[in-house]
Amino acid sequence: MIPTFVFGWPTGKESGDFLALDLGGTNLRVCLVTLQGEGKFEMTQTKYRLTEEQKHDEGQKLFDFCAECLKTFIDTNYTDGEGKSTLKPGETLPLGFTFSYPCVQERIDHGELIRWTKGFGALNTEGRDVAEMFRNSIAKYEIPVTMTAIINDTTGTLIASSYVNPKTKIAVIFGTGCNAAYMENVKDIEKIKSLGIDDKAQMAINCEWGAFDSFEHEHLPRTKYDVTVDETSNKPGEQAFEKLISGRYLGEILRLVICELIDEGVLFLGQDTYKLETPYVFETAFLSLMESDPTDELLMIIGIFTHFFAVETTLAERQFFRALAMLIGRRAARLSACGIAAIVSKMGYLDEGCLVGADGSLYNKYPGFAERVHEGLIDIFGDKGRNIVTHHAEDGSGVGSAIIAAMTKVRRDAGLYPNV
Ligand code: ADP
Ligand code: MG
Repeated sequence: MIPTFVFGWPTGKESGDFLALDLGGTNLRVCLVTLQGEGKFEMTQTKYRLTEEQKHDEGQKLFDFCAECLKTFIDTNYTDGEGKSTLKPGETLPLGFTFSYPCVQERIDHGELIRWTKGFGALNTEGRDVAEMFRNSIAKYEIPVTMTAIINDTTGTLIASSYVNPKTKIAVIFGTGCNAAYMENVKDIEKIKSLGIDDKAQMAINCEWGAFDSFEHEHLPRTKYDVTVDETSNKPGEQAFEKLISGRYLGEILRLVICELIDEGVLFLGQDTYKLETPYVFETAFLSLMESDPTDELLMIIGIFTHFFAVETTLAERQFFRALAMLIGRRAARLSACGIAAIVSKMGYLDEGCLVGADGSLYNKYPGFAERVHEGLIDIFGDKGRNIVTHHAEDGSGVGSAIIAAMTKVRRDAGLYPNV
């Protein structure tokens, strides 16, 4: 439970041009967001793919790459027809840096990386202030930006969704990782008691719930496949909740079941199955495709197995794979419902009801994921569970980051930096 130093909800009136840099898990994105007030905005963005090497090389090099992409983006978007910069001499653009890994923050533009998650492992970064590291890269490439805020994607999603629809009280991410954020009363946040922040203020909390039950493994029921995913990961013991839910792991869980059945001689007898034997080759997107296959013959599943893994399947096997995908996807959604229910209970949102802004490829692309979360909420709360409704969130890592950069600017101009 990490205090984010994002104070309260946006007014919806925030306006102006803001840059956002999103270091997500799979992609790197640079966005230019124009906030128009009245809960409206426009956005231009460019995506850059991150390589596995970049995720594990020197951390400073990773931030240098972010800075290079940012520079290219600014050169492209702030140049006139004759190739001259449209920025005034000395002008800098405000930037929100969406860095979606657990950080201890002392103020909005500071963040000490606690640990890498989602398969990242860049060197000499854990324990250091990533805002500072990124600022060094910005200086090195002489980029005309001022980094005003460092933001977790969940917090960004919370703020962006509330900007557009103030009924939103909770945000959840189901992407490479899994996490949530909500707004807490400052008086109830023990961790920041000593800072003397105004008791009536509110602050967003980044739950980092992916880490729930890490190491102890006391609460979450795990299968032997989950244990293998954990033990063979680059961070054994960590992110216990996330490993049962997020896009990075669901395909791998299914692959491990298949591999066990291959070893037992139950599946693909006499076929060469080496293509299935590499960890993480079975993408979570395949589970989506398998579950949405509309044909009786399950032609989509034939396609996945022949095309990507060069094995022939029988109809019975395909039906089994589909049932397996359903179990894995359903469990992920229902466990997520437990997390949402915990926040709803803590904050007393059940009677009044609230919206939950949800984002990430798993939520947006996995068929029936939202319905399964809702089913879970009704199982937990009974009929009142219907008051808690998830919806596709606004782009938190881009737009949310920009809104937070705007909120921070207003606060700074009013002399309320770093705290209220
Ligand atoms: P990020 O976590 O980098 O912000 P996303 O929200 O796009 O990015 O999530 C990426 C994760 O979503 C990957 O782990 C990938 O396996 C998974 N994913 C991508 N496409 C799909 C899909 N169609 N169905 C289910 N999961 C998907
Ligand atoms: Mg994301």
